[in-house]
Amino acid sequence: MNLQLFDTGSGQKRPFEPLVPGRVTMYVCGPTVYNYAHIGNARPPVVFDVLARLLRTRYDVTYVRNITDVDDKINRAAKEQCCDISVISSRYRDAYNEDMAALGVLPPDIEPHATDHIGPMCDMISDLIENGHAYAAEGHVLFDVASFDDYGALSGRDLRQMIAGARVEVAPYKKNPQDFVLWKPAADDEPGWESPWGRGRPGWHLECSAMIRKHLGEQIDIHGGGQDLVFPHHENERAQSMCAHGGRTFVNFWLHNGFLSMNATKMSKSLGNVLLVRDLVQSTPGEAIRLALLSAHYRQPLDWTDDTLVEASRKLDRLYGALGKADQALGEAVDAADQIPGPVLDALCDDLNTPKALAALFEIARELNRTDDADKQRVLAADLRAGGNLIGLLAQSSSEWFAANQAGDDAKAIEALIAERAAAKAAKDFATADRIRDDLAANGIRISDGPDGTTWQRTAVAKGAAS
Ligand code: AMP
Ligand code: ZN
Repeated sequence: MNLQLFDTGSGQKRPFEPLVPGRVTMYVCGPTVYNYAHIGNARPPVVFDVLARLLRTRYDVTYVRNITDVDDKINRAAKEQCCDISVISSRYRDAYNEDMAALGVLPPDIEPHATDHIGPMCDMISDLIENGHAYAAEGHVLFDVASFDDYGALSGRDLRQMIAGARVEVAPYKKNPQDFVLWKPAADDEPGWESPWGRGRPGWHLECSAMIRKHLGEQIDIHGGGQDLVFPHHENERAQSMCAHGGRTFVNFWLHNGFLSMNATKMSKSLGNVLLVRDLVQSTPGEAIRLALLSAHYRQPLDWTDDTLVEASRKLDRLYGALGKADQALGEAVDAADQIPGPVLDALCDDLNTPKALAALFEIARELNRTDDADKQRVLAADLRAGGNLIGLLAQSSSEWFAANQAGDDAKAIEALIAERAAAKAAKDFATADRIRDDLAANGIRISDGPDGTTWQRTAVAKGAAS
């Protein structure tokens, strides 16, 4: 199936074709490294990791994800801790990469740091001044939004309305309230670099434009990030890059992920509902966190509740349980198939529909649980592994998974399933009740209905699968 991706720029799903046949360039805005990543911050890297894995099955991909290592928040943290900004930024960059690795995120091909690209940023500013799209004023350099007719096209905003509606106090050196900073002066006690416009530092939007030009060229296939970046960050990146490059298209496909909320509330430090990836991986397998992040379509909001991780672990129990059953029956672990199963691939090619891809994996697991035919078991287990691996799941053996995850959470998940089965029986939905019993059995959990309710125990199969 041909790959279709939803492009924010055109507001529609379009067939994806690389600008240069066979090669794909992709850039995703990375973290500002001044604290630990929360679970919302993990959504873009996980989503775009799935996209990179999918693209790599058919193209030669160069994936760049930057590190913003100069910023007010980093400066503040460095001042508070009496150290250089590089101490703060390298500490949190390393932590970020460790956390992402725990979620199965493969490293990008290039991870450029903003502070290593001050030269290319100054070059781009000079280009913009030269061709009339930027002006220097009082130690600042500003992008002149009125000089770019297409300003606002990505985010669907009209510049004239924006100017008319501007209520912010306008800095005296700006021609227009919407003009944004390309370069700003640094105070003596702040990090700064010498430039033709005085000692200062770059604006945030400029970093990405300059690093994209340096590492991927003037035009790229895909640019990604969270939805909050559409305006102003990506609008401004687009304005700078197009104006520096004679008005040529900058990005072919703009992709934006929806936001993650906590119990239907915005995640924020002041509300105390920020979940750090670092803390979550202490008690939950990274693979379960990853599955949870992929359980909603990337453009949809994802609401994180107390049950999210329990459910995700349970789902992985089901997938690994089916694999374990096949491994046991066949007397060996089956390797991933060379081909990705059609329904999984079709779902991903349809604008990265991960919930549909996961449903296809569960369907394979169900078939696997139902059959005792060794040939079928071999094919289905190989398919399940191949499909799972493509989205960064099922990376371990079934026994490793169960050995690592048999503790408390597991028991909670089993109890929840038993309660679900009781509810299904009460509603005379015997098909669901039987399916739950069969799934549990496939995972090595035998349940017995007695006068005091339902009890469960691990069977020899589970112990075999788990050790
Ligand atoms: P920040 O550190 O705020 O610059 O965010 C880093 C990345 O995480 C950006 O791509 C944001 O769009 C994304 N992001 C931040 N919060 C959330 C959230 N709650 N849900 C999804 N993405 C988020
Ligand atoms: Zn960016």
